[in-house]
Amino acid sequence: MHDERSRELYDRALSVLPGGVNSPVRAVRPYPFFVERGDGAHVVDADGNKYIDYVMGYGPLLLGHGLPQEVESRIQSQLSDGPMYGAPTEVEVELAEFIARHVQSVEMVRFVNSGTEATTSAVRLARGYTGRDKIVVMQGGYHGAQESTLVEGKTGGTGSPSSSGIPDAFAEETITVPFNDERAVREVFEERGDEIAAVLAEPILGNCASVGPVEGYLDTLREVTDDHGALLVFDEVMTGFRVGGLQCAQGKFGVTPDLTTFAKVIGGGFPVGAIGGPAEIMESFTPTGDVFQAGTYSGHPLSLTAGLEMLRYAAENDVYDHLADLGDQLRSGLADILEDEAPEYTVTGYDSMFKVVFTRDGPRDLSGQCEAGCRQDPDCPRFDYCPKSKADVSAAETERWERLFWPAMKEQGVFLTANQYESQFLSYAHTDEDVEKTLEAYKEVL
Ligand code: PLP
Repeated sequence: MHDERSRELYDRALSVLPGGVNSPVRAVRPYPFFVERGDGAHVVDADGNKYIDYVMGYGPLLLGHGLPQEVESRIQSQLSDGPMYGAPTEVEVELAEFIARHVQSVEMVRFVNSGTEATTSAVRLARGYTGRDKIVVMQGGYHGAQESTLVEGKTGGTGSPSSSGIPDAFAEETITVPFNDERAVREVFEERGDEIAAVLAEPILGNCASVGPVEGYLDTLREVTDDHGALLVFDEVMTGFRVGGLQCAQGKFGVTPDLTTFAKVIGGGFPVGAIGGPAEIMESFTPTGDVFQAGTYSGHPLSLTAGLEMLRYAAENDVYDHLADLGDQLRSGLADILEDEAPEYTVTGYDSMFKVVFTRDGPRDLSGQCEAGCRQDPDCPRFDYCPKSKADVSAAETERWERLFWPAMKEQGVFLTANQYESQFLSYAHTDEDVEKTLEAYKEVL
């Protein structure tokens, strides 16, 4: 593969952008390829190399890179009417109505500009509404680059910042627990339930290899928060309108949170974020309430037009069925390959999210085959071996993923997320043929 142009651009970028990138996950070693354009399920780099893309912008691109004609013309028409105004527009009402119609827990929506902004505002809202300061988050969860959740710590203990520049005082208000550990979260609530404003959790750990909830775990989160007057906040920035179709992951798992954060898919590839919930809580936001929240670009007409048109298209076509079928095909193909080539690894995911997980303990004798990726099914013969928390996803494999696996898949023409924690995404533009080629590439590389 030629790579001269990407190398040249990277050298230039290193002088003007810290690490040559604008988000650290893009800084793959020895250097990232620079994208020239997207094309359906593919991206083409600055040297003309074409890859099957499973990064999909880290999740927003539900339909792939090219948009259907009607979606594109609505965005073009909004652009020619001017990109933004700083006054309300009809599209804000329409997208809020669309979300409220489909997502059971949502009555009202506040639009912001990113997932980080959505989770930051949701945490402030939960604190303002309950009058409490502490929040509980999952180890291995990610809620964006915000002060309250860039925190690590022992289960149930006082957290400490996981980035320099964050005051200890912020982290001390955050308690971490392992995902899928019912006892840990119950103990935390027994000890300090009356100090806790909210549990903030991704229903599927999208930033920790798509590890899913075991039966009953999300119900436990609902129960303990209800029992102690705390809010349950689902961070559906990644899963929202991707897993569980228009009802989102909360619909799929049948657990109704108090608040939900959205981003990615609801902006159709443009910057966006949102917080949704019942009027009683949402009206605590300014101007109706006293929890301050504001933004120059909030409810940006271009992002909201793109998001609304993309979601309408998904609602009117077989988008979610296609994605679920293709996801099953890919996961079961991967499960077969892993059985033969790399039994110490496993495949996870739901609908259009998937990941091959390098599990913690290395090769094991796993008799019986996982049928279609770990959905935490207790009847699956591999159930006990499948990852249930961050501790089960091998930190020791980071080097192998980044130095060997990712570059080898790239050489095969497959663009995966650059570390072993980030989930990967199918789009409506992916085809059976893409999946077949991808399976061949995995087989070769594993
Ligand atoms: N929450 C989750 C679950 C995410 O996956 C992300 C980003 O990947 C965020 C929040 C932060 O979103 P953004 O990058 O738009 O700020």
